[in-house]
Amino acid sequence: MKKSVLDFTKDELSQIVKPSFRAKQLYHWIYQKYANSFEEMKNIPKDIKEQLSDNYILNPLEIVKIEESSDGSKKYLFRLTDGFTIESVLLPMKKEKVDEDGKIIHLSKYSICVSSQVGCKIGCAFCLTAKEGFKRDLTPGEIIAQVLEIKKDNDIAQNRRVNIVYMGMGEPLDNINNLAKAIEIFKDPEGLAIGARRQTISTSGLSAQIEKLGKMNLGVLLAISLHAVDDELREKLMPINRAYNIESVINAVRSFPIDARKRVMFEYLVMKGLNDDIKSAKKLVKLLSGIRAKVNLIYFNPYPNSPFQRPSQKDMFEFKEYLNNHSVLCTIRQSKGLDISAACGQLYSSQP
Ligand code: SAH
Ligand code: SF4
Repeated sequence: MKKSVLDFTKDELSQIVKPSFRAKQLYHWIYQKYANSFEEMKNIPKDIKEQLSDNYILNPLEIVKIEESSDGSKKYLFRLTDGFTIESVLLPMKKEKVDEDGKIIHLSKYSICVSSQVGCKIGCAFCLTAKEGFKRDLTPGEIIAQVLEIKKDNDIAQNRRVNIVYMGMGEPLDNINNLAKAIEIFKDPEGLAIGARRQTISTSGLSAQIEKLGKMNLGVLLAISLHAVDDELREKLMPINRAYNIESVINAVRSFPIDARKRVMFEYLVMKGLNDDIKSAKKLVKLLSGIRAKVNLIYFNPYPNSPFQRPSQKDMFEFKEYLNNHSVLCTIRQSKGLDISAACGQLYSSQP
């Protein structure tokens, strides 16, 4: 199967197309002009275009389906070249605001939730992606293409920055090399120019990989899917906790390099009667002491036959208040795309 040119950094491309300024031109066509074929790249000589199309494809994804939610989020189902499918979500975070004279006060803001694998090996009890098992890692180009295609499809201009959250299907740190390469390609100022601080890696807590990512010093933000404050419950919900318990995750976080102005996000999926009590909130405060943390409470999002329930609004609010009153920054995540199951962690796709 042919590789995609999106799999390559600019440096790598300059080994493929000579002289090296051609790599810059190619990047320009792909990431700034949103070209759909090698053919249309006018200033690239014919022989190079032929060399490229003989050996590589431009876009490794095909849009199969788009579902739009009443709150404006959009779920994309993409087909990969080998027939597997993955999902990604466009989340409008802030609507464009104009004053009475029609002058734009601020532009709309977007986050794009991307997948890192087809399926997932971790097997969390509450997660829909886990149900289909693991198929394969995504290549860097397949990660890049999710953002590129969604920007294109929504006419989001090249110079409009978007945030990326690696919270789609898969465990990003279980595909750390391709992930790191995708982060680099996203960052390229001559490409999509999405800085590391606009990229958040969400992990189920692979402590050794968190340490490895920290040593790479990429400057990305980290989100930990914690969900439970004692090992007994966490093991039941997330089998990975047997290999890496809560203490090891917290220790890995403590050694992770964070910009002094930023925080590590802890995601806490709240399930009725399981982890929604004040005793858990108390333990959470203790666990996070000394860490520049921000807790994001997530309502469990039920799916057909799901074994857990959504917590009550009251319990959710009290949990949040407890944390806030004990100096832990805490917000409740607005569940975007509920009506189309587009909340992160709600992504599921069928087999080829
Ligand atoms: N594998 C990574 C990233 C993908 S999951 C991780 O686990 O962090 C992204 C987030 O969605 C995680 O915090 C996950 O716990 C959450 N999630 C999974 N199933 C969910 C559900 N049914 N309702 C709400 N959030 C869910
Ligand atoms: Fe994998 Fe994350 Fe789902 Fe757990 S929650 S099975 S780690 S995608």
